[in-house]
Amino acid sequence: MPTAAILSQGDEVVTGQTVDTNAAWLAEQLTDRGLLVVRHVTVGDRKPDIAAALRALAAEADVVVCTGGLGPTDDDLTNEAFAEAFGAPLALDEVALADLEAKFRAFGREMAPSNRKQVLLPRGALRLDNARGTAPGFARVHEQRLVACLPGVPHEMRAMYLGGVVPLLDALLPAAPGRLVTLRTTGLGESALQDRIGTFVHPDAVLGYRARTGEVDVKLRFRAGASDDVVRALVADVAARVGGAVYGVDGLDGKVGSLAEAVAAALLARGDTLAIAESCTGGGLSALCTALPGASAWFLEGCVTYANDAKVRRLGVPAALIAEHGAVSEPVARAMAEGVRAGAGATWGLAVTGIAGPDGGSDDKPVGTVHLGLAGPSGTEHRRVRLFGDRHRIQALAAHTALDLLRRRLA
Ligand code: ATP
Ligand code: MG
Repeated sequence: MPTAAILSQGDEVVTGQTVDTNAAWLAEQLTDRGLLVVRHVTVGDRKPDIAAALRALAAEADVVVCTGGLGPTDDDLTNEAFAEAFGAPLALDEVALADLEAKFRAFGREMAPSNRKQVLLPRGALRLDNARGTAPGFARVHEQRLVACLPGVPHEMRAMYLGGVVPLLDALLPAAPGRLVTLRTTGLGESALQDRIGTFVHPDAVLGYRARTGEVDVKLRFRAGASDDVVRALVADVAARVGGAVYGVDGLDGKVGSLAEAVAAALLARGDTLAIAESCTGGGLSALCTALPGASAWFLEGCVTYANDAKVRRLGVPAALIAEHGAVSEPVARAMAEGVRAGAGATWGLAVTGIAGPDGGSDDKPVGTVHLGLAGPSGTEHRRVRLFGDRHRIQALAAHTALDLLRRRLA
């Protein structure tokens, strides 16, 4: 598999003032065309460092893409470093100069002498035109290997990659995109998933995990040319090992959206409706639902019943139940779900009550204790979970876990 490396440069990037979105975007582009990205390197505005990095990466990878440092100022050193690294002296590129002068004329501005520095390109390099800005980029193809230098400004960089680098890559290393299939899971942590899946070794695929709030994606990246049968068999095998935590498979027969979308699709398919009663999530659970276009086809209402009295008045939760068990309890979660379901006339009533913290926890109900209730045509179920994190994270996880309870019931 041909390899690629990315060099990001600039003091702004090494000091953390600028987040390196260029490297992330490029890595994805290069991976998508079947290159194995083996290294990301970041260096500050120091010519010897840039030159050394260029040389080392060019020796290591088939494709090197460098961003930043093409501008007119003293801290823009890429062309000089490139010249040093590859022994390619700089020379004024007349076409680039004419282009730059035309750009300045079009803006009605005088070209500063320092701008001439931008059109000094290493001898033997191919000029890459900048459709979005002033500084041209350049690329060197040598012994079937490519080193391309692009601007730091993200939209200029992307345009130049797509317009200038992709055609060079197409000629050099025709794209051989592999296939990425993602099993989207919820309810299990990374280590629990790893335990279920076990060791995964296969000549056609690499398996990886990516955790997000409340979810873990299990990614299967297949090499180019893996047959559809192999892909499907492996995905089915991994999905069977994971079990009910899989809520969707992306990249097999289409795209899968969020957990809320999976729930919405299941409700729509059955012609069911949903009403929500929430306390500690403060509307966050309903917001997950109403964020989806077309939610009115299945989402009837959401009540944020924060005070005890609101749970009594709006949902008909017996005051005695709250007095006896507390608002964060199994009986109250059940009563909230049943109350909102009956009041709304919905197929399903989903309720969440918990302690988001940082205060309000006790020994038997620590911060992160959340009770979920789900009332439906065949009765009411309850689940108690203990979530960890700050207030914001506990709220997000509680909403997520509530949706997952409904998803599993609809499955
Ligand atoms: P200019 O002509 O504007 O000087 P340049 O090619 O010299 O462009 P830099 O000076 O290195 O690029 O960066 C210009 C701007 O682009 C930075 O201020 C920063 O906002 C952004 N930038 C640079 N590198 C990155 C990166 N790796 N990821 C995201 N943004 C970046
Ligand atoms: Mg610059």
